[in-house]
Amino acid sequence: MEENEVIGPKSRDRDIEGNKIYRFLKLNSFDELEMDYTRSYLSPKNYFLPFKEDLVTYSLQDKGWEQEINYTIHPRVIVGMRACDINALLKLDQVMLKSAYPNPYYFARRKNTLIIGLDHEPLEDCFCKSMNSDTAFHGFGMFLTDIGDKYFAAINSDTAFIILNRFDAEEITDEDRLLFKAEKKKIELKFKTQVNITILPELMDLEFESEVWKKWGDKCLSCGTCAMVCPTCYCYGMEEDIDLSITKAVKRRFLYSCNLLDFAAVAGGHNFRPDAGVRLKYRYYHQFRGFMEAFDQSLCVGCNRCGNACLAGINPKAVIDDLIETETK
Ligand code: SF4
Ligand code: SF4
Repeated sequence: MEENEVIGPKSRDRDIEGNKIYRFLKLNSFDELEMDYTRSYLSPKNYFLPFKEDLVTYSLQDKGWEQEINYTIHPRVIVGMRACDINALLKLDQVMLKSAYPNPYYFARRKNTLIIGLDHEPLEDCFCKSMNSDTAFHGFGMFLTDIGDKYFAAINSDTAFIILNRFDAEEITDEDRLLFKAEKKKIELKFKTQVNITILPELMDLEFESEVWKKWGDKCLSCGTCAMVCPTCYCYGMEEDIDLSITKAVKRRFLYSCNLLDFAAVAGGHNFRPDAGVRLKYRYYHQFRGFMEAFDQSLCVGCNRCGNACLAGINPKAVIDDLIETETK
């Protein structure tokens, strides 16, 4: 903790029903860590893709100019990430690291962050099992499963192994293995929400013009909250902030949402997606159809943060069930 920044789940407030609201925040001591947290309101994605980041600053002098680009970060550890959030990062890696134009800012953060994952029992509305994101096999340094009075640790990196040896770690016994399997089974059986995704890509093509989009679009407030809390949404906007003296400027990237009214507005005032239902449809298409075509997997990991945060009561399970019902009528 003296050498690295440590980030983990902490409760910050309570919702109207009195439940704790958790966020991933910098820890000053391990006592602040709340390993029994349920779901963080925001995903840890923002430690890799911040809401706002300065990409480059310019300074103009006489007839020349200089630019400053800084994407070095201090090494840090994120403790307590859920399997679905780790899988979300693996999906973002496809776009941010493995595409034709890798994102060096994301790369620096990803490479300098050790992830310590943590198993948990699902909440009623989690459907990460349906999205094959309820377990993580890579994308972390260490992954912990609570097996009673100790943790079962899966190790995936040298750094994590070195850290583990600083603690009072013991070799895994046969009894630990049995406890681990029993805990995994218990978690698996606790999933209540299921979403049928096997037919989704085809269904979305068939239901492109469906009334379902209008029905849910009429409820949508176009607030963009769903994309802000989502661990996988990565649409962004750019702005140039130029100093009044015209000697300095900053190029800034900020996360954006395809549900916002002006997302598809272009110069000249035309808006390619003026209807909330159409914008909602394209968000679902990206999550469940477009990403599948590009990377052979859905973008959604089934955390239902979007459904939980949406003031209009829109959530993926309800929308997808509606599409399936329309198709089978
Ligand atoms: S679906 Fe919900 S959270 Fe997303 S933009 Fe519409 S109202 Fe906001
Ligand atoms: S459930 Fe919603 S918030 Fe979670 S990954 Fe899927 S689209 Fe994003």
